[in-house]
Amino acid sequence: MLPTDPQLTAKRHTLAHLLAAAVLELFPDAKPTIGPAIDNGFYYDFEFAKPIAETDLKDIEKRMRKLLPSWKAMKGKEVDEKAAKEAFNGNPYKLELIDEIIAKKEPLTLYTAGHFTDLCRGGHSENPAKEIAADSFKLHRLAGAYWRGDEKNKQLTRIYGLAFNTKDELDAYVNMMKEAEKRDHRKIGKEMDIFEFDDDVGPGLPLWLPNGAAIAEELEKLAKETEFSGNYQRVRTPHLAKDSMYLKSGHLPYYEDTMFPPMEYEGGKYYLKAMNCPHHHKIFAARPKSYRDLPLRLAEYGTCYRHEKSGELFGLMRVRMLEMNDAHIYCTEEQFDDEFRAVNDMYLKYFKIFGIDKYVMRFSTHESGKLGQKYVDEPDLWKKTEDMVRKVLVDSNIPFVEVANEAAFYGPKIDVQVWSAIGREFTLATNQVDFAVPKRFGLEYVAADGTKKTPLCIHRAPLGTHERFIGFLIEHYGGNFPLWLAPVQVAIIPVMETNNAAAQKVHESLRALMIRSEFDSSNAGFGKKVRNAKNARIPYTIIIGDKDIADGKVTLESRDKGQIGQLTVEEVLKRFTEEIRGRR
Ligand SMILES: [Zn+2]
Ligand SMILES: [Zn+2]
Repeated sequence: MLPTDPQLTAKRHTLAHLLAAAVLELFPDAKPTIGPAIDNGFYYDFEFAKPIAETDLKDIEKRMRKLLPSWKAMKGKEVDEKAAKEAFNGNPYKLELIDEIIAKKEPLTLYTAGHFTDLCRGGHSENPAKEIAADSFKLHRLAGAYWRGDEKNKQLTRIYGLAFNTKDELDAYVNMMKEAEKRDHRKIGKEMDIFEFDDDVGPGLPLWLPNGAAIAEELEKLAKETEFSGNYQRVRTPHLAKDSMYLKSGHLPYYEDTMFPPMEYEGGKYYLKAMNCPHHHKIFAARPKSYRDLPLRLAEYGTCYRHEKSGELFGLMRVRMLEMNDAHIYCTEEQFDDEFRAVNDMYLKYFKIFGIDKYVMRFSTHESGKLGQKYVDEPDLWKKTEDMVRKVLVDSNIPFVEVANEAAFYGPKIDVQVWSAIGREFTLATNQVDFAVPKRFGLEYVAADGTKKTPLCIHRAPLGTHERFIGFLIEHYGGNFPLWLAPVQVAIIPVMETNNAAAQKVHESLRALMIRSEFDSSNAGFGKKVRNAKNARIPYTIIIGDKDIADGKVTLESRDKGQIGQLTVEEVLKRFTEEIRGRR
């Protein structure tokens, strides 16, 4: 997420307090727990004595609006343990938070607005009545949430609210979400036979149906061509590896909770691959390297497996298996600038192909005070690589925001944020500069002066994973994939059964050019066949009737442009191959 304006975050957080105040007036037995600001608004988790329903949200919202004008100030004061515990007597959640704050030796602060007081660190609107427009927020849904996100704890009720600076912004967001619902990748994925989940295969493990595989393979073809012309070399690596490798890479023990549990085998422990990097490092190390081998660019559509909590799985967006458009570039410090620039250019090329007009690179840097703890202790390399990354971003006119103290342990990081055609934000990919792990793996090359040096490594995955990227594309196109990417590219429909033989011939000439055409020779009526093709969102329909045959032509219709008219088969083939080659 992009850093949002701090005033808006303060408003959203203030509204969470207002929500708790309104809930306590209407449901005096409710126990408030925590209530932060989030991306599009705020939420608050409560323990209710009796379950509440979506219909209660209207009343709560009304009460919030009634209370708001009396919230003319929000004042904090520091209190001691006794006063804090008295204020929340009977609320075990707040008491637990108080004990925790005391254990961390942080100050205990209570904030009051109107007649409502809450335990809080601060960060509110100073004068909520004046700063928050009464029509700029609304409560929108209920959800269950475990206390502290832990399934072993009690389940609470979460009330979500939306909040923006103005009513217009709120309305625009609500409309976007309505459109997003229509374009929901799970819904369209079913309608278009793109993917499926099966209980026997397991949650979070997508099965790509033929239509989904066609899209994935077009994306891989694009990646292969682009990477080939960028002088990448393709490699292939196993889906599992021994624990010793992940100990070396640092995945064990630090990221063990994101990996599948190990398999005991031949007296050793094997893990499913959670990242491709260590495998690629091993390929680098497999043969001695000299400066003449650099930059070395190793690419693979690598399959990784991650442990995600079952409650967090979500369609193709949160899965347990990911096919990643991965590559690792090993280079010298002198080569870094050019390499990083080329990676950025690749992103821009892809954005153009997919019609992604709005994007931002979120550039995370280190903090010098935390070298040796949160960040690897290489002050010069941090400065050098961050300067280089910044320079490339500025030079190439790429919109970016810089965020301090969010880099990876081993180097600066760039998250690529894009907006779909309806304006919803997605994080598709991450680029990382890595100057620590190559050392851990003992990666070396012989420099021109005969000394041994460690290369820098750039991790990049512009097309992210098939799962997330195709999920994004389904929403972005609303299922109306451009010709080159459409699972079925052309529908061939004879007007009458007597036209079947001619239709079959056209079908075969398209298939000979590897164009994914579908010939409907069923007994269904002509009108029904046309409707089916439209519902399947097929970019082109070729209609063949008696008149077409007599004229030596076919009739072409486009999903997006409507009737095109009569063309010869040669003209149609030329048009299709040009569009497909141009990835349109
Ligand atoms: Zn607060
Ligand atoms: Zn990597």
